[in-house]
Amino acid sequence: MADNMSQLSCQYGEDEFCYEVIYLPERKHRIAIHVHPNGVVQVDAPEGAKQTDIKHAVNQRARWVTRHLADIRERQKEVLPRRYVSGESCFYLGRRYLLKVNHIADGKPETKLFAGRLNVNTRDTSPEAIKQLLWHWYKTHARTNFQKRLYVLAEKIPRVRKSPPEIRLLTMKRQWGSCSPGGKIILNPHLIKAPRDCIDYVILHELCHLQEHNHSPKFYQLLTRYQPEWKSVKAKLDNLSEILLNQ
Ligand SMILES: [Zn+2]
Repeated sequence: MADNMSQLSCQYGEDEFCYEVIYLPERKHRIAIHVHPNGVVQVDAPEGAKQTDIKHAVNQRARWVTRHLADIRERQKEVLPRRYVSGESCFYLGRRYLLKVNHIADGKPETKLFAGRLNVNTRDTSPEAIKQLLWHWYKTHARTNFQKRLYVLAEKIPRVRKSPPEIRLLTMKRQWGSCSPGGKIILNPHLIKAPRDCIDYVILHELCHLQEHNHSPKFYQLLTRYQPEWKSVKAKLDNLSEILLNQ
């Protein structure tokens, strides 16, 4: 946990939830509460805000938070653990494909999209082997696809156009992407399963951070300029996150 964070909890009726407080120097007055799709509750507070004020603000919205968390738990129940057998669904660029595991007598394993199916040809058809082959396939496609899209999107942004950043892939549990203070863009390979506009949204979000390093109103103005419909795209991605992050 970073220096500017602390962890608190809130009791609401029979429910209790924990939340992370992030103190932001550029934040003026308001305390804002977010419930992330993975169930993490985040509270943004101005630097120096009193803990009693933060607790009060969270208590005021505790009903809303617990409702949200209950919805998330409900959605998570629907997501079954993967088995890596023929007939399972695989997502790629927002489309659903059926997995087809084909046993081959010899030769190198191969994964490819063919006739609406994601075919894995392999000698070792154990779930662990299929999992690894699929993951390798996803990462390879993620790398080329994301970088291509980044170059296209970077063209829109004057500050970034001249030297668009390289992408690094990192599997994350809670995030689709991040932007380091040094200007590196990190993307979650699971994002390759999402629809194209969702991928663009995440890349644009991170590209805008190269200019505005926080989530200030200026940042959102910038994002809105490049993707006016980003809010609905983000909502779509949030709704898919349990399925897409289920490896
Ligand atoms: Zn951000």
